[in-house]
Amino acid sequence: MPVTAPPDEDLSDLDVLRRQDPEIADVLLGEVRRQCDSLQLIAAENFASPAVLAALGSPLANKYAEGYPGARHHGGCEYADAAERIAVERATALFGAEHANVQAHSGSSAVLAAYAALLRPGDTVLAMGLEHGGHLTHGSPANFSGRWFDFVPYGVDAETGLVDYEQVAALARHHRPKAIVCGSISYPRHLDYRIFREIADEVGAYLIADAAHPIGLVAGGAAPSPVPYADVVCATTHKVLRGPRGGMVLCGAELAARIDRAVFPFTQGGAQMHTIAAKAVAFGEASTPAYATYAHQVVEHARVLAAALAAEGFALTTGGTDTHLITADPAPLGVDGRTARARLAAAGLVLDTCALPYGEGRGIRLGTAAVTTQGMGAPEMARIAALFTSALRDDPAETARVRAEVRALTGRFPPYGR
Ligand SMILES: *Cc1c(COP(=O)(O)O)cnc(C)c1O
Repeated sequence: MPVTAPPDEDLSDLDVLRRQDPEIADVLLGEVRRQCDSLQLIAAENFASPAVLAALGSPLANKYAEGYPGARHHGGCEYADAAERIAVERATALFGAEHANVQAHSGSSAVLAAYAALLRPGDTVLAMGLEHGGHLTHGSPANFSGRWFDFVPYGVDAETGLVDYEQVAALARHHRPKAIVCGSISYPRHLDYRIFREIADEVGAYLIADAAHPIGLVAGGAAPSPVPYADVVCATTHKVLRGPRGGMVLCGAELAARIDRAVFPFTQGGAQMHTIAAKAVAFGEASTPAYATYAHQVVEHARVLAAALAAEGFALTTGGTDTHLITADPAPLGVDGRTARARLAAAGLVLDTCALPYGEGRGIRLGTAAVTTQGMGAPEMARIAALFTSALRDDPAETARVRAEVRALTGRFPPYGR
């Protein structure tokens, strides 16, 4: 069996893989079927376009390109340089940033680079506590952040579920952090970046916005931008933004060189040029009026779905959403988050559990980015909420009925092959 495809074969064709390695081809096809047969409600997921996937599967994946355009440690980088220059130009234009580093391999790598650029081990950092919605990179003891820095957590108000800015200010004055991190994996509301900026200025701290979730809404004008306020903005490219799995760092001109050095050579090696080309494609897509419409639809659909879930009895954190993201306690329906996730998954409704700041056990977290990409609209959101309640009944007949309805829905709105 040949190890590489003969030159006359189409390199993007899954048939090549099927002939050479049927075992892994079956796995990939199984995953395609899974994505097509169930509803992808994980708030961090989306369906990248065929153009983004084409760039990801391109021979640029074979190129080594340590360094930056015009200053590489390898020969033959003319096309790699072109891809990265286009990606950087599109990112800075899209977000109105002075500088963009598009090499960060992931959202976590982007945050690591921001810390590396601005902090020393042992520095104090103020960030949202993990049980209130902070990310692992915001001080988890299981993560480099918790091991190398002294994190002080802030939280959300017990009554409203909203960020307690008074508490953030009081903690900042008391602990004098070197940096304040604003951003969350599960906060469904807009953050007030201006207030965070004022607090950071008062205590002489850097402001790092970890906008991994809302950055796609920012691109489409459907959420406020942290770029005018934060010293450094960290983001992912694969969530609402609908690009390849990866990270990005935005900053002002004065921090550009420090951020670039923090990404390479301090925390990463060679850039993943195929991913950077795919990021460029996604930034191009996100600059279109069609994408702006999409971003606003994502939010509208989340509002409709949130209201419908509330009507079904779910206790929504903060009472609703401003974004693509919904968090809720299913306890009023007699189940906790873990049981809910399992029962919903059995019925083809795929989502996450999340921490509940003041609740018992865990809640559920979901988002509307992927189903909106599929073309679903407000009527489908209302229908999905009703399916949730049916699926939670733990009745095999109901589960089978919901599964069939999910298949009918995804059949009408297929994620691939449009
Ligand atoms: C998703 C996310 C990350 C991490 O992104 P990865 O690409 O999974 O490393 C970091 N911070 C926040 C707030 C996130 O939501």
